[in-house]
Amino acid sequence: MNPEIYPFVVRPLPYEYDALMPVLDEETLHFHHDKHYKTYVDNLNKALADYPELQKLSLKELLTGLEKLPAVVRTAIRNNGGGVYNHELYFDMMKGACGQEPGGELAEAINRDFGSYRQWKEQMKEAAMSQFGSGWAWLLTDGEGKLSIVKTANQDVPDLMLYTPLLLVDVWEHAYYLQYQNRRADYVDGWFDLIHWRKVGKRYEERNVI
Ligand code: MN
Repeated sequence: MNPEIYPFVVRPLPYEYDALMPVLDEETLHFHHDKHYKTYVDNLNKALADYPELQKLSLKELLTGLEKLPAVVRTAIRNNGGGVYNHELYFDMMKGACGQEPGGELAEAINRDFGSYRQWKEQMKEAAMSQFGSGWAWLLTDGEGKLSIVKTANQDVPDLMLYTPLLLVDVWEHAYYLQYQNRRADYVDGWFDLIHWRKVGKRYEERNVI
């Protein structure tokens, strides 16, 4: 996550642009990271430019306090702040395809809350496929370690006061259209193989305990 405050910066990918091939090719990652994600960072900074008080807040503070923001910038911060938060976690929780599976405490929680890894995968795919239009499917944990799957529209985030997001899949067409055109299911199937389960497991163990 972006721990800093305004001005927010574009974080480089934690791997090379060809590291996620063949699931995601270089062109897709260049557009997604260098254009789409960067635009959210730039527009978040623009939205905050005239608000010195808001410039002192972290991204999470902005996103959990939207109703307190001035109405004139609320939508811009919701959309672009969410765009920054979501993309940073999305890029960060992937690595070169290796078909890894979850381990440790997280694997036990997945079995407990979904029945098995396979059943979790089916439910996660169902969430990703049934998100109408642009949005995201998420795996969340609450402070006690209970897992849940949700989907959000556009660049909305789940309630970050109640949940720690563990991973998410971008189902905006810009995430896959260059390579997969309308075949969202093939993209989602490929994405499962990119999940960096060691990092996800660490996030689970370090979740915010309420
Ligand atoms: Mn995206």
